[in-house]
Amino acid sequence: MLSFDFSPEEDAFRENLRKFSLEELLPHYAEGDSGIYPRDRIIRVINLIGEVDDESASFVTAGIVAEEVGRGDFNCVLPSLGPFLFREFIAQASPELKARWLPGLQSGHQMIGLGLTEPDAGSDMGSIRTSAVKVGDEYVLNGEKNSVSFLNADVFYIFARTDPKTTDWSGLSAFLIPRETPGLRFHAYDDMGCRAVPRGEVFLDDVRIPAAMLVGTKGRAFPMIREFFDMNRAFISLKCIGAAQQTVDETIEHLKNRKQFGKSLSTFQGTAFPIAEAETLLEAARWLAYKVLWLKDRGRRCDREGAMAKWWIPKTCAEIIHECLLLHGHYGYTKDLPIEQRLRDVIGWQIGDGPPQIQKLILARRLFGREFSP
Ligand SMILES: Cc1cc2nc3c(=O)[nH]c(=O)nc-3n(C[C@H](O)[C@H](O)[C@H](O)COP(=O)(O)OP(=O)(O)OC[C@H]3O[C@@H](n4cnc5c(N)ncnc54)[C@H](O)[C@@H]3O)c2cc1C
Repeated sequence: MLSFDFSPEEDAFRENLRKFSLEELLPHYAEGDSGIYPRDRIIRVINLIGEVDDESASFVTAGIVAEEVGRGDFNCVLPSLGPFLFREFIAQASPELKARWLPGLQSGHQMIGLGLTEPDAGSDMGSIRTSAVKVGDEYVLNGEKNSVSFLNADVFYIFARTDPKTTDWSGLSAFLIPRETPGLRFHAYDDMGCRAVPRGEVFLDDVRIPAAMLVGTKGRAFPMIREFFDMNRAFISLKCIGAAQQTVDETIEHLKNRKQFGKSLSTFQGTAFPIAEAETLLEAARWLAYKVLWLKDRGRRCDREGAMAKWWIPKTCAEIIHECLLLHGHYGYTKDLPIEQRLRDVIGWQIGDGPPQIQKLILARRLFGREFSP
């Protein structure tokens, strides 16, 4: 039966998280802008969530975490999803690798960085050149990864070509490589937003790792990560929705309190209607994003809805935050308010995990068939 209600337990969970997010995260959000990774607060969020077992591990519940934590601190969201997300992220890792990494990742004490993008392999992930050559019981990796979020991570999930005869998505394999492994070098970018989470390059020079660090089946890494991306697009969307909804709520208060021409700004159509439109867009965005997770919870395909959410929602949220910034007048343009930081943070996730054109490409292929090519 169709239902647009969350359960009473989910509502209580949301209320509790929102209170924490607004009281404990939001006052510290600006600190992250000077490049401080909020590990302690991430651990506090995870402690608040409590134990996530098979019963409570629904992805819709994880979506509530993304949305509510996104209200307080956009940059705490991904690691705070640890109890729900990381077992899915490295689902095909061996029991030994899971035992080594999952406890730290799920508790927030450790973090993982994903190394897909390369200088010549951005949207076209099939062009990955980093090589992994089997030598005895080891793999030797050489190459360069760009744009790795969580450059401060304890372990890197590196995608490399194990079959040199291939030039596309086939022949790629994935490895979990600890940060301290000899041959890894790092270079951080000076980003416009999301500055609490360092992003940058990972260079691999003759990195030797045990063959047991391979995740899943050799040469089958791409389908593995693609399914994760379908769902992750909902989490990206929901953290953008959280940031935009909080900005809208703050703007409503501002418009009620600020008087010009002898009246509250909330009494003018020119200032009230953009908020009415933002509420409408956010309501539609929210249900699209939760539908992705609802499908995933039922073991159903969600690539179509994930691509729809990812091209449209971060863009819409950035536009809403921009509009709210203007509605705050000159003060909205200062760093005294969190609005400009939210705008910079959300824009990054219009690109991260695939820009809008690539999402539309996924949709076009569903609509027109594989012959639709870039
Ligand atoms: C905040 C952030 C976090 C990120 N985190 C990670 C991470 O943790 N790990 C990781 O591996 N990567 C990460 N990325 C990289 C991200 O996944 C890539 O930026 C993205 O896949 C696009 O690749 P590119 O930047 O090389 O752009 P390009 O592929 O060079 O594309 C440039 C532009 O051209 C468009 N375009 C490309 N091909 C086509 C086509 N066929 N038709 C129409 N338009 C096209 C794109 O949509 C884009 O607008 C992150 C990026 C950002 C901004």
